[in-house]
Amino acid sequence: MWHVNIFTMFPEAFPGTLGVSLIGRALSQKKWQLNLVDLKQFPTQSDRIDSVPFGGGSGMVLSPITFEKAFNSLSDFQKQQKKFYLSPRGRKLTQQDMLYFSKCPGITMLCGRYEGVDQRILDFYEFEEISIGDFVLMGGEVAAMAFVEGIVRLLPEVVGNDESIRTDSFQNNLLEYHQYTKPRNFHGLDVPEVLVSGNHKKIEVYRITQSKSITKLRRPDLWDTYISSSLSDLF
Ligand code: SAM
Repeated sequence: MWHVNIFTMFPEAFPGTLGVSLIGRALSQKKWQLNLVDLKQFPTQSDRIDSVPFGGGSGMVLSPITFEKAFNSLSDFQKQQKKFYLSPRGRKLTQQDMLYFSKCPGITMLCGRYEGVDQRILDFYEFEEISIGDFVLMGGEVAAMAFVEGIVRLLPEVVGNDESIRTDSFQNNLLEYHQYTKPRNFHGLDVPEVLVSGNHKKIEVYRITQSKSITKLRRPDLWDTYISSSLSDLF
């Protein structure tokens, strides 16, 4: 079963969005496992889990002693998983990461708070720093939830409809086409005629054309990748 170990000072923030809808149902059906490690349960000798930064500056930094004790509470199997530190300094996550890590047995995540964590935790335990965007959150918990949610929805039998994943944005390096539902007219805005034509071939062509023009307009970087990958498919 795919599992995630999450080190956090605020385990009460979980499962949060991971406990609702299809992801929450998959959690209760044991299609994936959430192992929360409460850093507050592993204080240092001075009865703290963090301390002021050497060299001065504001905020508090997570102690490597606390992290070591918390890490040692994991089983040998749990310790082996790839480790990520959620951090605004990190490499930005992509859908490729979600796909890749959905095929691994599990991962480990460390959520920072305040000024972050002692660098030696990251160096010694070989954490990769990853970010959910160029902005700063109060803590890593929401970022960890985003990462886990992105992975778990790709696990077999979680979403239950492979079609909806196949047409997601970033599959084939394209953004998704626009979606419409009832009513057919809303404040004078009509649903495109082709979508109610019942002609599946035409609908498919229309949607692909739309996907391409949305991607070209909004994400020229992704469009370039799409063009080069479709060219490479020809050779
Ligand atoms: N002083 C840090 C810096 O400037 O890089 C920011 C610390 S932030 C207030 C506290 C914690 O929130 C971080 O340790 C990290 O775990 C998390 N965090 C903040 N922004 C994030 C982002 N964009 N992606 C992932 N985690 C983030």
